[in-house]
Amino acid sequence: MSDFRGRFAPSPTGRMHLGNIRSALLGWLQARAAQGRFLLRIEDLDRARCKPQYVDDLMRDLRWLGLDWDETPLVQSQRDDVYREALSTLEREGLVYPCFCTRAEIARAASAPHGLSEEGPRYPGTCAHLTREQQAERARTRPPAWRFRARPGEVPFVDALMGPYTQDVEAVVGDFVVRRNDGVASYQLAVVVDDAATHITHVLRGDDLLSSTPRQLQLHEALGSQAPGFLHVPLVMGEDGKRLAKREGAFALAELRERGLEPERVLGLLAAWSGLGDGTPRTLDALVKSFSVEALPRSPVVAREAQLIEALGLR
Ligand code: GLU
Repeated sequence: MSDFRGRFAPSPTGRMHLGNIRSALLGWLQARAAQGRFLLRIEDLDRARCKPQYVDDLMRDLRWLGLDWDETPLVQSQRDDVYREALSTLEREGLVYPCFCTRAEIARAASAPHGLSEEGPRYPGTCAHLTREQQAERARTRPPAWRFRARPGEVPFVDALMGPYTQDVEAVVGDFVVRRNDGVASYQLAVVVDDAATHITHVLRGDDLLSSTPRQLQLHEALGSQAPGFLHVPLVMGEDGKRLAKREGAFALAELRERGLEPERVLGLLAAWSGLGDGTPRTLDALVKSFSVEALPRSPVVAREAQLIEALGLR
């Protein structure tokens, strides 16, 4: 065993599709090729959208493909006390503050030239410097969210696949939420706390999270934890240019499993989407041997219907 520790951290908000199972496969291959450990973590903080049924389904999907995991999976909905402790640490350092703004207020206050990050308008810092009296006054009508004071300046890092990336978090996103006003930890805080708690050394995930990474690096720094290395893979798109995640049906793994398809066919297709094969069936063992980061595509992969039908033998 090496010191390599990777993870797959799905949000159980629906059935797994070929796009997110590809991220799981690549993370698993990277870990196994490095003779490291691979962990599973259930990111179910969004209680309204997550269902226990989807957790069962995704574990069954992973096992069906042979993607095993080491150690007991962390389940984020059971870790509120850990996230609260991290928030207290940040509070002691003066790095967070309560924010009473509604979404509508933030949208109105955001001045147009500052543009939009993909999470909406930059937070203009409305509540950043309230006095204690003002905070107490506001708290009477609305429970606050908590925001992290983004450090100004570029946060550069080198992605293992995409190369150098940088973002000035303060300028683009502004102070960002670490605890929502319903008391639940935000995605950014939970990911950082959990990656640190499980000593993750390598994060492999979809490139829709590339722009979250500078925020996560700032949180690691603030909490004094060692940040992992990052590798972001371009997503798989449908022929219509939409993310697979937004589509349903034949792309759901459970459905392919229930149709009695051999897992090697699915692995063969996923390998073709990853520069590791020609679409013909593959075993996990063969894929571990042939895995290489250099082979991974650096631009979005298009899932062509014809290729899918051919590779999966759905005709
Ligand atoms: N739970 C996130 C998702 O399913 C992934 C988080 C991560 O890999 O950092 O999109």
